[in-house]
Amino acid sequence: MNNRNIKQDLEQIDSILKESGISRRDALKMMGLSGAGLMVGGATEAEAATTLKASDAKGKIVIVGGGLSGIATAAKLTHSLSNPDITVIEPNPNSVSYQPGNTLIGAGLWTLDDTTYETQNFMPNGVKWIKDKAVEFNPTANELKTASGEVIKYDFLVVAAGLVNDFGMIKGLEEVGEVYTLDKNDAARAKKIVGQNGLGSIYFAEGAADTWTQMQKFVSDAKSGKKVTGVFPEPHTPFKCGGAQKKMVNLTNARLEEAGARANADLQFLTNGKKLFGVPEYHTAIDGQMKARNVNVRYEHKFTEIDLVNKIAKFEKHWEEKGAWDADLEEFEKIVKTEAVDVKYDFCHVIPPQKAPKEIGSSPIGSEKGWVPVDKATLQHVTYKNVFALGDIAAVPLGKTGGSARKQYAVLCQNLIAVMEGKEMTAKYNGYTVCPLITNIGTVMLAEFSYKPDGTGAMAAPSFPLDPTQERWIYWLLKYYLLKPMTQYGMLSGRA
Ligand SMILES: Cc1cc2nc3c(=O)[nH]c(=O)nc-3n(C[C@H](O)[C@H](O)[C@H](O)COP(=O)(O)OP(=O)(O)OC[C@H]3O[C@@H](n4cnc5c(N)ncnc54)[C@H](O)[C@@H]3O)c2cc1C
Repeated sequence: MNNRNIKQDLEQIDSILKESGISRRDALKMMGLSGAGLMVGGATEAEAATTLKASDAKGKIVIVGGGLSGIATAAKLTHSLSNPDITVIEPNPNSVSYQPGNTLIGAGLWTLDDTTYETQNFMPNGVKWIKDKAVEFNPTANELKTASGEVIKYDFLVVAAGLVNDFGMIKGLEEVGEVYTLDKNDAARAKKIVGQNGLGSIYFAEGAADTWTQMQKFVSDAKSGKKVTGVFPEPHTPFKCGGAQKKMVNLTNARLEEAGARANADLQFLTNGKKLFGVPEYHTAIDGQMKARNVNVRYEHKFTEIDLVNKIAKFEKHWEEKGAWDADLEEFEKIVKTEAVDVKYDFCHVIPPQKAPKEIGSSPIGSEKGWVPVDKATLQHVTYKNVFALGDIAAVPLGKTGGSARKQYAVLCQNLIAVMEGKEMTAKYNGYTVCPLITNIGTVMLAEFSYKPDGTGAMAAPSFPLDPTQERWIYWLLKYYLLKPMTQYGMLSGRA
């Protein structure tokens, strides 16, 4: 980590806050955040406290995946164990690059340089890094095999391998196939199709840069007087950053307005679901935002195909109708109806269907749906008690954001150490996740939510006493200036 850069980041934050008449301390208080995550140089109080309380528990810990969750976990375990024996298996030299920044790259607000980081600069001291992929798992023998054939034994396994974007699930994008968000080889293949001819996707880093090129072309066509259509479909699978497509439609809207060209563009947002958000008050707020921006929202549209030549996005519209009375069940049958819908586009931002990497999803530690099945509170594997999972790959009901991983890694480390010490696990993940929903260039609605108290569903869980359904400039500062340093210097060092 480079202290000079951190200092510059903090100075930049201070100056923008100063212009607005508030101090960094007050801003962080308003955001309900601790300043500890932003402290640089030397040991923080939090770090000192964990060092003092370091556990003498022993055992070889192997972490599969050295992205955001994997490195944060390795760092925290390094502080929390007096004799850590930790190995990270991660093939990508840039695995810690800042993925949430892709949204800002896609709208021309950041560049790739703002988000690209080298893993070696964040690998905690003393952690062994195997630059390879784990491809076979034998949890009954406590071992796994890497792509190069090395067999690695472990006492405890942490699975933090994220997810893979499967563009190939959309007919017409088979050649693009599976793409990891930060993999340069995948990007080179994907770029030949996605990022060309009106198609964009911020779900891989270079794709985000090309999305900005396509968005600019779209805006300039609208500005020249052409009537244009922008199409923003959500996938039918779970996906990381559930708010990403809403951010993209809002940022496109902002760029069109900036160019004085909004009147010439039809913006269509299509979702497979029946709602814009699982938490009712956030759904209502986002519905209001979409109406205010004249975005055409279409529910129950499954994105199935794209005709690249004629620039048509194809959907299966689905709905239920009441059938005959079932005397046994004492209710009407539900008949699912479908109809094909074609939408011609000038610009289409694709969020690909997503799934667990297949070598894990279809292994003995995976599940029928692919994700790693863990207890949603303790993050311990449902079958193998020395295995834990977190981040995008964990089968927990909410999540698939860096914000949820930030809460999960602290819980996981505490529970893993309890198991190593032969004690009961006491830490519980409450389902917290956060979506800084960009509503305009300069405003964000901070949608924080968690499980309900009974552990089911989702409810709003604001960290501080401000109406969470309002779009605010202060949250833009958080998104634009604070979250990246908090992630890089707080979470990836295991401190916050
Ligand atoms: C466009 C976009 C916008 C986003 N916006 C936000 C946001 O605003 N807020 C937010 O909180 N989050 C956001 N996110 C989500 C956030 O980046 C992820 O949830 C977070 O990175 C998940 O961390 P992870 O460690 O689970 O996965 P990753 O950080 O993706 O790391 C997984 C790692 O596992 C490695 N791996 C995979 N398979 C194997 C294997 N078999 N063996 C070894 N290693 C393997 C991969 O190479 C990868 O480095 C966004 C993501 C994207 C793409």
